[in-house]
Amino acid sequence: MTDTSRLLGLSRRHVLAGLAATPTFAALPAIAQTAGTRWTPQQAQAALKGAKGTKLVLLGTAAGPVPGRSRQMTSHVMLSNGSAYVLDCGMGVTDQYARTGIPFGALKSIFITHHHPDHNIEYGPLLIVGWVQGLPLDIRAFGPPPLKQMTDDFMRAYKQTVDFWAEDFHMKPLTTVGVQEISGAGPVMQDDNVKVSSIVVEHPPVKPALAYRFDFKDRSIAFSGDTAPLEAVAVMAKGADVLVHETMYVPALEKYLKDAIAKGRPVKFDAFMAHMKADHTPSEDVGRIAQEAGVKTLVLSHLTPAIDSIADDTWREPVAKYFKGEIIVGKDLMVV
Ligand SMILES: [Zn+2]
Ligand SMILES: [Zn+2]
Repeated sequence: MTDTSRLLGLSRRHVLAGLAATPTFAALPAIAQTAGTRWTPQQAQAALKGAKGTKLVLLGTAAGPVPGRSRQMTSHVMLSNGSAYVLDCGMGVTDQYARTGIPFGALKSIFITHHHPDHNIEYGPLLIVGWVQGLPLDIRAFGPPPLKQMTDDFMRAYKQTVDFWAEDFHMKPLTTVGVQEISGAGPVMQDDNVKVSSIVVEHPPVKPALAYRFDFKDRSIAFSGDTAPLEAVAVMAKGADVLVHETMYVPALEKYLKDAIAKGRPVKFDAFMAHMKADHTPSEDVGRIAQEAGVKTLVLSHLTPAIDSIADDTWREPVAKYFKGEIIVGKDLMVV
């Protein structure tokens, strides 16, 4: 969604002056009512510290590869029984991970939904900077082809850099990463904490684009990835505790598109909206899918358009017409 993202990069941004002053997590209302687009690191760390059981941290909740917004590009970390699992590596994943206070040594596996830059651009840097910070050398990565080649090429490009650091600090160099390429539906991996499975979603021309489900011992969390409305996502997420679904709020997107065209963007309105509808899920359909899946909690994320001026209630309203469970508007560093 590069075109969209360039377009949405025009969006006006609000400085969240009040947010930095927010003192503690304990002083905040329930998460669904939290204002702004992000939690502070202190809020996230406090929520994780007091947590029992598996937690999900939304590291980045914006759609598209646009730098400079108050929301970061898409990434998540799940923390279960002291082990961490990252899903998607949009720009900002390494900093955001660090802000949660979860040690890099806890990171066991990285999962990529598909090869758009807002989901994979910081995969390599997470590996290298993470290694300096104590990433286990047996870290594993899962995602669509050509993830293996991408990993090998990246590690080759940074071999000298890694070797310098290894020599300076007498560290064992990170030389390879165990990559398992995932091309279809079925089981992805299993360890002591979690069983992970995938399905193929509809995100043309990206093939394959994946959705994932993580079944931890105490909690199940499903991710739609980037997709047009898809029955298969509801089937995959059936009965899950949490579904994180990409969400496109069409009226705001149309307004932004019209504004951008008025300012001279060389984009055709109808063609652009047709492309967006072929690739992404409007809010109402997100609600329908979550209702059909019967999930307890629906997290709206990968927000399109990722602009600060859309109120939480505006995001929630078209979804709530169809979904009767808990709806959370995703914010960066929010702990769910
Ligand atoms: Zn995306
Ligand atoms: Zn995408």
